[in-house]
Amino acid sequence: MNAHTPQQKVVVVGAGIVGLATAFRIAGQGHKVVCIDDGKPGVSSDAALGYIAPPSITSVPPDVVLFGAQSYQRFLQFLGDLETVTGVRPYVAANGYIHVATTDPQVEEIDTICQSWDTAGLNYTRMSGDAARVREPMLSSHVQAAVILRDAMNVNPQELRELLRAALEGLGAEVRTGETVQSLDVIGGTCTGVLVESGRIDADWVVVSAGSWSNAVLGGLRITNLIPTKGQVVVLRSKGGLVLQYPVSTSDELDIMPRPGGQLLIGTSNEDAGFDTTTTAHILSGILNRALAVVPGIGEYEFVRTYSGLRPCTANRRPVIGPHPACPNVIVATGHCQNGVLMAPLTADSVVDLVHGRSDGAAPIAMMHPALP
Ligand SMILES: Cc1cc2nc3c(=O)[nH]c(=O)nc-3n(C[C@H](O)[C@H](O)[C@H](O)COP(=O)(O)OP(=O)(O)OC[C@H]3O[C@@H](n4cnc5c(N)ncnc54)[C@H](O)[C@@H]3O)c2cc1C
Repeated sequence: MNAHTPQQKVVVVGAGIVGLATAFRIAGQGHKVVCIDDGKPGVSSDAALGYIAPPSITSVPPDVVLFGAQSYQRFLQFLGDLETVTGVRPYVAANGYIHVATTDPQVEEIDTICQSWDTAGLNYTRMSGDAARVREPMLSSHVQAAVILRDAMNVNPQELRELLRAALEGLGAEVRTGETVQSLDVIGGTCTGVLVESGRIDADWVVVSAGSWSNAVLGGLRITNLIPTKGQVVVLRSKGGLVLQYPVSTSDELDIMPRPGGQLLIGTSNEDAGFDTTTTAHILSGILNRALAVVPGIGEYEFVRTYSGLRPCTANRRPVIGPHPACPNVIVATGHCQNGVLMAPLTADSVVDLVHGRSDGAAPIAMMHPALP
């Protein structure tokens, strides 16, 4: 809060990583925050593997690479501020990740990936398959080439959500779980609050960060191109022996994330299946087969469980962060697709700027328009 911005009543709809991070930053400015969440099945933040690495140009447009890189730069500060409020140091591993290539086209694609990392000013090391196996002895002999993005971290998104909830309570914000926001109360282009089952909550600002369900909350203000994109994950556990040192990725949608304690999360798919969250043998067997081809030793790991999550994606792979043109005190913060954990800190700061009427600093990259293609 500052002299020009008196305390505002802000309702944040959705307590995924984006809503919680945003509520945390707004509450940290002294505003009165209520964050509401109904715990839908398929919450993306509970499915996320936890890569904190700027995306490459092979998956998103160049401005989104830069947005990701800027959010990456803020991530450690964000975790530090979380620790200051909660007294708990969030888990973070900062040893980078290995992107591996097992086919000739994938080897060529490494050039493109490195170019976009150059543009974003990131540090990486290219290496042969043999050099990669020295770094990560679990990699298979099929790996022809690799690149380690040294500027990459990983976190535990589920733990971060818990810490953010605790931090919000520490800052005096209200976190309401198990409650659905049924609609926004909009009169003449201004939103005066939200409607929940138990009544109405007044607001000067409403932030809609309800992930894939944001259009249902927006109602008549819905944005046109939000597509829930299912990602399935298999969880294994090491029974001793070799443990993966680095997270490993390939360009055919394979991500293998080691967690402390020997767990390994292996994903993932990109399915346009509406709000369906079932996990399927066909997809999971494909994920496991691709993982075994890259890291054969995990064939001995114990099976733990499978799960899925719904990424909030836009057709143009750009997040939607900005005031609604038809109702400017409704701020939409969604559409982060496969990078929402990474992009949560910069998204949150961008929303604070909007509440404070600032256009400098972390300007939103995609001011929303209802007719966005
Ligand atoms: C398998 C998988 C792996 C991923 N890995 C990574 C990764 O490594 N790194 C990365 O950066 N990103 C990753 N992502 C993407 C990331 O998970 C998402 O971009 C991010 O979690 C989106 O967060 P969100 O808060 O916008 O949405 P969500 O996490 O989906 O949260 C939305 C919340 O809104 C609530 N809600 C919805 N409607 C209402 C309502 N009417 N009233 C109240 N509450 C409501 C829901 O219950 C939910 O809790 C991954 C995603 C998947 C599926």
